[in-house]
Amino acid sequence: MKPFPLLALTVFWLISSALTPLHAKEQLEIKEYGLITPPACIVDSNREIKVYPGTSEQIVNFGGFLAAAGDFEVGKDGGIVHEDRIYFDESNMPFLHPLLQEFLFRHECAHVKLDHLDIPRTKRLGRYWDIEKGADCQALLEMKQDSPDFSQEAESILQHFNLIANAIMPAPPGKEAVKQQFIDQRIANMRKCNAFQS
Ligand SMILES: [Zn+2]
Repeated sequence: MKPFPLLALTVFWLISSALTPLHAKEQLEIKEYGLITPPACIVDSNREIKVYPGTSEQIVNFGGFLAAAGDFEVGKDGGIVHEDRIYFDESNMPFLHPLLQEFLFRHECAHVKLDHLDIPRTKRLGRYWDIEKGADCQALLEMKQDSPDFSQEAESILQHFNLIANAIMPAPPGKEAVKQQFIDQRIANMRKCNAFQS
């Protein structure tokens, strides 16, 4: 089923808006877990994708929230080279449950593994749900391989994702319900991942 236009517009609005810092959300009793060591991201069997801290604003500019993967132009040996990198929101990430942190790092790594960075930016919005589902499913599958009790972990990830996405994303004016619908859609897609089939 294709998402209806209002949802597509909201997706664009949500992923291009400034985030609310989690530590400002006192009413949620969000605690600081501390930053986990990001899981190694190895693609094409030997290429390591490095992880860098960034600001919330940078992450949003890179087209993500909480973390983002991208192909960056960086100076090296007096010239400019392209380098795939993962950035994470250093002010918010330590407030996420460690399982959700791991999920998000693996999700960004999956964007690189699945060649999503090769899709032109102009085409990414139209394929938003496919792309995100692909990365979510890959991340969940990897976590399942490492976990003897994945079904409980997976529920935890979805629950924390719902809580955090709600806390951190501002709703478009008068569109609280559409924001929740956006979050629900993402979670419903995750439940369709192979990792959820026993
Ligand atoms: Zn993504």
